[in-house]
Amino acid sequence: MDPRLLAPIPTDGALVSPEEKLAAAQTHTPNLGMTAPTPEGKGPPSLAEMAHQQYVRATHHVSLEPWVVEHLSHPMRTTIASVPVRMDDGQVKVFTGYRCQYSNALGPTKGGIRYHQDVTLDEVIALAAWMNWKCAIAGLPYGGGKGGVVVDPTRLSIGELERITRRYTVEMINVFGPESDIPAPDVNTTSEMMGWIYDTYSMIKGGAAAGVVTGKPLALGGSLGRTESTGRGVVETIEAAVKHKGKRMQDMTACVQGFGKVGYYSARFLAERGAKVVGVSDVSAQLYNKNGIDVEDLFAFARKNKGLIKGYGKAQEISDILTSECDILVPAALENQITSRNAANVRASIVGEGANGPTTVKADEILHKNGVFVIPDVVANSGGVVVSYFEWVQNQQHYPWTEKEVNDRLGVIMERSFRNTVKIAESKSVDMRTAAYVLALERCGEAVKARGLFP
Ligand code: GLU
Repeated sequence: MDPRLLAPIPTDGALVSPEEKLAAAQTHTPNLGMTAPTPEGKGPPSLAEMAHQQYVRATHHVSLEPWVVEHLSHPMRTTIASVPVRMDDGQVKVFTGYRCQYSNALGPTKGGIRYHQDVTLDEVIALAAWMNWKCAIAGLPYGGGKGGVVVDPTRLSIGELERITRRYTVEMINVFGPESDIPAPDVNTTSEMMGWIYDTYSMIKGGAAAGVVTGKPLALGGSLGRTESTGRGVVETIEAAVKHKGKRMQDMTACVQGFGKVGYYSARFLAERGAKVVGVSDVSAQLYNKNGIDVEDLFAFARKNKGLIKGYGKAQEISDILTSECDILVPAALENQITSRNAANVRASIVGEGANGPTTVKADEILHKNGVFVIPDVVANSGGVVVSYFEWVQNQQHYPWTEKEVNDRLGVIMERSFRNTVKIAESKSVDMRTAAYVLALERCGEAVKARGLFP
């Protein structure tokens, strides 16, 4: 067994040199525990290390055979590709694309592709691991995967974005497949791009492989309800948490960090279900109004304002939405937002993680100690992949569902995931994230064991 798995869980640790980081990043089968943790506050912490620490913490609460624990601590396969693209000015630029398939113990790997200038291999591995646990918790027949291209999409024309997407798909042509690895949208990627992936894959492989990618436009076999699904799922779990605490949505105030696909729909459904949304932020501004913000009015304003909320007159600009006065906090932007620096100042009593990895390990401990009820990302934001699964099923069956069927079935799964996680948290006296991991490890562990080792 890997001795790291028996070692105490590191919280703060020694700085790792850039050379060590590079060496770790260059290997194609990186171990989640390979890098020493970067202390919080000294540069961005390694997300793969964070995912590994969460994993190790949960292994103390499950009785899996050591080889299974060791097996699941390693990402199965990671592919790195150069993505050369002719830009509009005639120059050729070479981008870097990643795809990590974390584990296929439960089925084909599944997860989104993000376009962001800060994408790293480390991040993609962590996100793939989180997808793995997320799918297991939701009871989907999938393992986890994630992809990313290092690019700032806001600087590209639509034609350049299309060429990047198509070339990335070609580079991953033997990775992707309806029964092997199924991508989807993530940060900065859209249904239109998923349509290009579908088309490129099908052109090369032949036929019409709708099941190769989810989050497609409706015209190409996309599912009703997919666009809103992550936000809808976040709010399903928040409502379950509010009820669990014996409270009512109508008595709750909420702040949402992020006003993209996840943030906007989370805010909208929170308001629809009776909560008062008092704070909303995006990259341009953080807004607060104790009397409530009309989410649809803000959305309409942002549409006319290059998608940004800055300049909206019906709320004040504030400096830190995460520590503002509210009952429910939804971090729905990027990773590493609630850290050891601000966790003690979080005033919400419920945190529903819309983003992946918004809370660091150290921050988790602080929130738990302060009695903040965290619905972890792997439970709260699984609505996206759940409806992706529905899309894939509809594609395989060539039989589309109504929006009501999609939303009702999503509600059942979100509620079940929440309930199962609470049950473990209470019976093992652990925090919700550890409980969610325990559930995931039990399911993945059972599958790994049942499959056995080849050869
Ligand atoms: N990117 C989303 C996530 O992080 C959805 C993935 C999917 O639909 O496969 O969960």
